[in-house]
Formats: sequence, C-alpha cells, structure tokens
Amino acid sequence: MRGTVYKSTGSWYTVKSIDGDFYECRIKGKFRIKGIKSTNPIAVGDDVLFELEKKGDETIGVIHEIRERKNYIIRKSVNLSKQTHIIAVNLDQVFLMVTLNNPTTFTSFIDRFLVTAEAYEIPAILLFNKIDAYNEEELAEINFLMKTYEAIGYKCISISAKEGNGIEEVKAMMMDKTSMFSGHSGVGKSTLVNAVEPGLHLKTAEISEQHLQGQHTTTFAEMYDLSFGAQIIDTPGIRGFGIVDMEKEEIGDYFPEFFELKSECKFNNCMHLDEPKCAVKDALDENKLTWSRYRSYVQMVNGEDENYRVDIYKE
Ligand code: GDP
Ligand code: ZN
Repeated sequence: MRGTVYKSTGSWYTVKSIDGDFYECRIKGKFRIKGIKSTNPIAVGDDVLFELEKKGDETIGVIHEIRERKNYIIRKSVNLSKQTHIIAVNLDQVFLMVTLNNPTTFTSFIDRFLVTAEAYEIPAILLFNKIDAYNEEELAEINFLMKTYEAIGYKCISISAKEGNGIEEVKAMMMDKTSMFSGHSGVGKSTLVNAVEPGLHLKTAEISEQHLQGQHTTTFAEMYDLSFGAQIIDTPGIRGFGIVDMEKEEIGDYFPEFFELKSECKFNNCMHLDEPKCAVKDALDENKLTWSRYRSYVQMVNGEDENYRVDIYKE
C-alpha cells in the first residue's frame, strides 16, 4: 500500500493511504534511508510504502520504503551533538506572512527566508497581512515592498486575515497543494488559517519562543486536510528558516535579480562586494536593483544574521 505520513510521535506514524484511510504504522526493523542523517528516519509529508500485518487481534501497518523526497525542512538541535531532526518533507510551497509593525518584519528576515526557499527550490509566496490596520503612509510602504518582490518574481498578496480581504486568493493558491505558513509570532498565521478553514487551530501559536530554547524540545509537525482540497503542514514553533549550511559563494545564486547581471561582472567569481566592474553594483547605482535586497545579501555573506537553527534541504 502507498500513503502519506500525516503525523508522527517518534515511534508511530499515522499514514493516509491513497484510498483515503488512515493507518497507524511502525517502521520495519532498523530502517535507514540515504541522504541526511537525522534523529528521525521518516517525517510528516513522506510518501511511503507499507504493508498491513496482523499482531494478535490488531492490524498495524509496517512501513518498508520511502519514496524520493522533493525537499525537506530540518532543525538542528542547539546542544553540542548538533543532531538533525527532519520537521517535514515534500512541501509544494511556503507562505511567509509579513507585517510592517506589531510585529515588525524586517526585509533582512524576508530576504533570508527567500534565499533559503530558493536554495532548496520551494516556491515562496509573500502575504502582507493586516492591511486593515495601516495608515496611508504604511500602505504606500507595503505597495513598495510588493512591487519590489514582484519585480524579482515572487508572488505577493496583500490580505487582512481579520477582515477577510484576499482570503479567496490565498485559498486558490493553496488548492491541491501542501503548504506551510511561516512568519514571526503575532503576524496572523493562526487568524489566517482559521479564516481559510474555520475550526482549524494551528499549534504554532501555542508554543512560546522560550519553550523552543529548551534542548529537549521535540518538534512534531502535523499535516491537515482542508475542506477545499488543500493540505497544511503545521510546524509548532517554526517561524522561519535560516541559511545554516550555505557557502558564502552560493548566496548570490539565490538572489534571482542577480542572475542576468552576474555574467557581466568582470570576474566570474565576483562576490559583488568591492570588486571592480561589478554589474550588480552598477545596476544598484542605476537604481535597477533595490538597496535593501543588496544590504541583506551583504549581511548574509558577512554572516551578520541571527543564529537560525532551521534549514530547508534538497537532496
Ligand atoms: P500568529 O502568532 O502568527 O498565529 O498570529 P495570530 O493569528 O495569533 O494573530 C496575532 C494578533 O494579530 C491577534 O491579536 C490577531 O487578532 C491580530 N491579527 C491577525 N490578523 C490580523 C489582521 O488582518 N488585521 C488586524 N488588525 N489584526 C490581525
Ligand atoms: Zn559582481
């Protein structure tokens, strides 16, 4: 039988078969998969093959194979062992919720998020929330940000999770896909999820940042089917992801607006910092690129970002 992992407790896996039935499954013997070494061999979102086995009176599923993964999100533990835990796999897209204030989402945070999504080929969509609460000046800033990110190729939607603006558009984007919602605490993730699917409450909101600092915190993601034909992966306590394992030289590859310019830089290994005849810096001077994006790039290259523990990987 074939199915998708919806939930995991560490030793049990809840699998939804392609026929739509749920089975409690275990893993067969010592089960190892190629690729990343992690504390958990199977994660929410995994596409698995399993067999039903009779054990006394009950029937349980036994997972014996994992199908190839599109991508995965991992979290590294903060303790010395640096163990890796796979939070979720096979995401179709990630939504990053952004607010100008209450809380403030800095462009450096947005850009770091987009770089990671880019690196691991997970399409990212920006949701600018709380548009009901902004004054004209703030709305102008939102418009500027939307123009900036749309010009680079990112889909942007301005919404009010509270008043309902833009919700239909978000639902249309979610249809037939597995999505994850990210963003700082308080940007409105729970409110939005509740607007697209009344009655569904994210666990994300219930876990405090402080709790996350604990070394023994285990993050159990869970997949939910929504009534309009979409899936959500709820990742308690995970609000973004960083660039933990990225080489400095790679970072520029994940700024789509640098793509066409790079070949025109004098040096083919140009880092677009202080090199002469750099097409990226020329474009900046001609206002063809956005300074805040370039600033984020420099910060990332210089390792001046916060210490993020979550990353997205692609095999
Ligand atoms: P989460 O931590 O990202 O899940 O954020 P919540 O959904 O819990 O929302 C945090 C606060 O922002 C709550 O007081 C919400 O009522 C409020 N909020 C959420 N969406 C909106 C919105 O579109 N407009 C306004 N004005 N407030 C909102
Ligand atoms: Zn350059």
